[in-house]
Amino acid sequence: MSATRILLLGAPGAGKGTQAAMLIERMGIPHISTGDMLRQAVADGTEIGKKAKAVMDAGNLVSDDIVIGIAEERLSQPDAQKGFVLDGFPRTLAQAEALAATLDKLGTPLERCVAITVDTEAVVQRLLKRAEIEGRADDNEETIRERMRVYDEQTAPLLAFYEKNGILAKVDGMGTMEEVAQRCESALA
Ligand code: AMP
Repeated sequence: MSATRILLLGAPGAGKGTQAAMLIERMGIPHISTGDMLRQAVADGTEIGKKAKAVMDAGNLVSDDIVIGIAEERLSQPDAQKGFVLDGFPRTLAQAEALAATLDKLGTPLERCVAITVDTEAVVQRLLKRAEIEGRADDNEETIRERMRVYDEQTAPLLAFYEKNGILAKVDGMGTMEEVAQRCESALA
């Protein structure tokens, strides 16, 4: 049986959101994106949104406390009990450890971490294109470079964490959406 508790890992613009959307459609499990939840909090003007906005606009990471709180609250909802695709969380070792502790306690550990690998310069170009289409405040070139730096520094170490855990699968993220989807599917089989 294929994995249903899935984490998609990858640099900003690696195509995690696109692949998550394809997976949830096929598998009927929720897509849990802390980035989407934080953007919603900003749009709604909540306390969390107010705290997060400047940090997000600068391309930095929102504090572990806030992000762990919203992710765990989302994971505790009924629709996440049959599985989930995590996208953009965890992004630091502290978040990964908190997530592992929570899921272990529930007896529902992550089953697979799919790391989508891409060429950094290709990704910067992809993100600049997305900025034109979506008009995201954090998609200007300076912020994109900062987000890449933060990824390398804070999030890339998670590959070793999940490799040690025995659930890491690396997938080449270059190619068409469908090609990458096919590789993700194989990695989850
Ligand atoms: P994303 O849509 O996943 O690229 O997230 C957009 C922004 O939201 C990031 O650049 C961070 O500022 C913030 N964010 C999303 N997820 C996290 C996380 N797990 N930890 C810290 N900050 C996050």
